[in-house]
Amino acid sequence: MFWEGHLAQTTHIQDFYDRVLNLTGKSHGLRTTCEQICRNLLLSFSVEDATLVVAYKSHWMTLLNVGKEGIHYFFPPVEYQDSDTFPFHQVTKAIRLKKCTLVDYKNVRRLTLPLERRSQIIGCMIVDFPQNVDTSQLSACDFRYLGALLASELNASMIDAIIQDEHSGRRIAERELQIRQHEQHNLQKQLQALHDISFKLWRAHSIDNMLFIAVDEAKKQLSIDRMAIFLFQPGNRMQGTYGTDIYGNTVNEQYFESKIPDLWFAPHILQQRGEYLAIEDNTPLYHNLKVVGFGWSAYISLWDEDTPIGWIACDNLLSGMPLPGHLHQLLKQFGFIVSQHLVRRQAEEKLIQLNTELELRVAERTQALQQAKDKLEKVSQEDPLTQVANRRLFDERFSEEWRRAERHKLPLSLLIIDVDHFKEYNDSFGHAAGDQCLKTIAATLAPIERRAGALFARYGGEEFVLLLPGQDQQAARYAAEHSLEAIRALCIPSSPENGSQANIVTISVGGCTVTPSPKSSADAFFKLTDAALYEAKSSGRNQVFMISDDGSNYRTP
Ligand code: GH3
Ligand code: MG
Ligand code: MG
Repeated sequence: MFWEGHLAQTTHIQDFYDRVLNLTGKSHGLRTTCEQICRNLLLSFSVEDATLVVAYKSHWMTLLNVGKEGIHYFFPPVEYQDSDTFPFHQVTKAIRLKKCTLVDYKNVRRLTLPLERRSQIIGCMIVDFPQNVDTSQLSACDFRYLGALLASELNASMIDAIIQDEHSGRRIAERELQIRQHEQHNLQKQLQALHDISFKLWRAHSIDNMLFIAVDEAKKQLSIDRMAIFLFQPGNRMQGTYGTDIYGNTVNEQYFESKIPDLWFAPHILQQRGEYLAIEDNTPLYHNLKVVGFGWSAYISLWDEDTPIGWIACDNLLSGMPLPGHLHQLLKQFGFIVSQHLVRRQAEEKLIQLNTELELRVAERTQALQQAKDKLEKVSQEDPLTQVANRRLFDERFSEEWRRAERHKLPLSLLIIDVDHFKEYNDSFGHAAGDQCLKTIAATLAPIERRAGALFARYGGEEFVLLLPGQDQQAARYAAEHSLEAIRALCIPSSPENGSQANIVTISVGGCTVTPSPKSSADAFFKLTDAALYEAKSSGRNQVFMISDDGSNYRTP
């Protein structure tokens, strides 16, 4: 053999090359070749440390390492780990120098063997020979052949390996692409689901209904085992809304009320501004704050601008399915949608409540106003002393009834009632007694005529009027006589100076009945009635005198 003359000075190196050649004669993969060479270095020279660096994808990378733990082969080659044993600068220096060296280094003899192929360095092997092994006969030249051998083996195998690596890389990339496409398709489907949920939330008829839909639909459409929505309350507390029982049913959980629990995710949710998602795998799963299992759980914060208003909790308690990759994004979106609907709904309901309160207040005010108005109207139409209608109301009704009677050609009767010798009564008993007497007389006369349209009023002083629409002279006469009798029946003692025969208070009544026509007037009608009263007074008082437009007068006997 060609090296025998120069190199085989030691049995070690000869043994080594014998074995190596024996090995390279058979066709092996790069890995086997490298490992065999290392093993032979171990066998022949008790080598403890060695490293093989190769140019791979434009970087110097480690293909093989020999250490106390044995031989490590890496394919694809791994990033070079800088170490005390083989500092990287030594490697690059050897590569730069393109020179094989064997020198004492620390307590070893170090062989640096650049691997050259067609004037290009494609790798470098560094081997440390322990000094207790007899290597004094060896020189760097002894390993040139090993360098050439390794370089050619590397060159052939690395090209193959790189091609294979690229093939498998492409297969992995294709597979990844497929997975991505599948995930994207899923995400698209679930984004559509989110859109559907949002639409349903929008159509919910109340906040309560909306929260139920949020939980129920999210579970169905986003394939989530359990979900619950909690809303924060003042005083660092929170309340349940809808949730999922341990069988997967959507249930009302408004009964649940507690302090915001001091769990791992709570500070993030309360302090982090904007939407926030906290996910943890292999974590305890809770129901009513009790641990019911283990799995992944996710918490999504609900916000009203900068204020946290609640959170959504979900987990995989029922199916134990692993967390899908796209769920993060989906849950964030879902949290955002629920927050928005919730805030909008709350604002709407507040507005409705405000409106209802306002309407109620307006209705109350309107009612109070109406009552005040009614009272005012009553007061403005009522005589304060006797509480019967006053002259103002009489005047209004008198002209109304006159026009009505004229329109319908109906009779209209009027009585003027005057207390006899009332001045003397006042003079004798005093004004207060006079007032009381007027009140008694009014209270007695007011109920006498109750037919629709009839109006009893105080006309002024001790004078009253009784308007009788639609009543003829006979009816009016009846009312007049009835009034006369009623006052007599009161037997109110009269003033002793009173010029009349009777010693009780009496009244005189003048009455008149007409059927109004364009030729006559209300004014003339009143004056005629007043004339009738004058007639009753001048004929001795305590009597009725009636005038009718048909000329038939009447006087009480
Ligand atoms: P005659 O029989 O002619 O009607 O005599 P008279 O005294 O009743 O009539 P006159 O018109 O002379 O006097 C009416 C009196 O009625 C005068 C007034 O003192 C009294 N009077 C009028 N209004 C009131 C009132 O509100 N209270 C009291 N106490 N007296 C009144
Ligand atoms: Mg009078
Ligand atoms: Mg009088």
